[in-house]
Amino acid sequence: MRSWTRPALPKLPGRGLAPRLHDDASGQFLASAPGTPSGTLYVCGITPYDATHIGHAATYIAFDTVVRMWLDAGLDVSYTQNITDVDDPLLERATATGVDWRELAESQIELFRTDMAALAVVPPDSYLGVTETIQPIADAVDELRRRGIAYAVDTPDAAVPKATDWYFDIAAAEAATPWTLGSESGLDRETMARLFAERGGDPERPGKRDPLDPLLWRAERVGEPAWESVMGRGRPGWHIECSVIARQTLGDTIAVQGGGGDLVFPHHEFSAAHATALTGERFARVNAHGGLVAFDGEKMSKSLGNLVLVSQLREAGVEPGAIRLAILTHPYRDDWEWHRGDEQRAAERLAAWRRSVAELQSFDAAALDPEAEDARALELVDAVRARLHDDLDTPGAVDLFDDWFGTPHTAAANELAADALDALLGVRL
Ligand code: ZN
Repeated sequence: MRSWTRPALPKLPGRGLAPRLHDDASGQFLASAPGTPSGTLYVCGITPYDATHIGHAATYIAFDTVVRMWLDAGLDVSYTQNITDVDDPLLERATATGVDWRELAESQIELFRTDMAALAVVPPDSYLGVTETIQPIADAVDELRRRGIAYAVDTPDAAVPKATDWYFDIAAAEAATPWTLGSESGLDRETMARLFAERGGDPERPGKRDPLDPLLWRAERVGEPAWESVMGRGRPGWHIECSVIARQTLGDTIAVQGGGGDLVFPHHEFSAAHATALTGERFARVNAHGGLVAFDGEKMSKSLGNLVLVSQLREAGVEPGAIRLAILTHPYRDDWEWHRGDEQRAAERLAAWRRSVAELQSFDAAALDPEAEDARALELVDAVRARLHDDLDTPGAVDLFDDWFGTPHTAAANELAADALDALLGVRL
């Protein structure tokens, strides 16, 4: 699938640092690219039925910071993102609004691309929809069947008589592979059971061996899209989609798997489990997740109707750089709340930085020692790198720019500071 326009990134002097990131599987801070010249990143993409809200933007900007740091560190970056362009919420929305599901998906993907380009998010190298990847996913499900890690469940409402859905067998996978339930998410079974029910799982489905066994392949239902496979006509489950797209583009073990905090379980637990069941290898070295963004006291979500959309803010004349800056003032792993006027406060901060460059440079530049100023600007670049290296401390980096632009500097020093702001935080003065 076509992605979006790549922003031009200034090249900074010296060598940057690959960040260390909090890994949810171990609870430790881990090097994101230990001793390797490359960085591989998989970030779960959108289900294209609602436009980019601030919560989505926060997730993609957090992992964009990882990409920018890896590039600054001279790593060879490979980044993949999927699009869940066939799934229950998309089909339900299409039915509810009387729009063809393909048209709904295409229009929302296009809006997402426009939002990401406006926010200066570096595009993934591989941007793949599940509808483009059906055959390899079906092959992976078939391989799990042959290894005895998948089983059929009677499906009386299937479009074809005797067709069945296929489920992943947690117990069989635990017996045959290095993965165990909870080893990716670090959660206990009670919490997993609660989250499974809340996030689209089907613990009550008759015929399942374990209530938490996740769906691998859904047999065709009347009126739903379906594709041919050796399991019969149907469509993939959500977790197997991401594990196959990631392995197909990035290899069997990836450096960082990322996404929003609501993907910790079941999605990332099981996409890793599926991959490990097929390869015998750990799927991702680091499992990293952003926090959830609330608005009006509740998690931002389509079902609650409390969305702040990037496209609406842009239409209202808000500069995308200000939206980005507003998001970057929050630690990426925290849950936080978007408040009305946050975009205005960020725009004022950005305007103050710009004023500082324009006014102070003409006012005091002659009194400054150019060599000392150049050295200070290099120190700023390294200080920003150090803040971001520490689990993407973007608020700490923003503070450094506040300090910098609060005092007079030469034009050359301000130019380097502006390049660092652009290259590492994606905000252009
Ligand atoms: Zn995913």
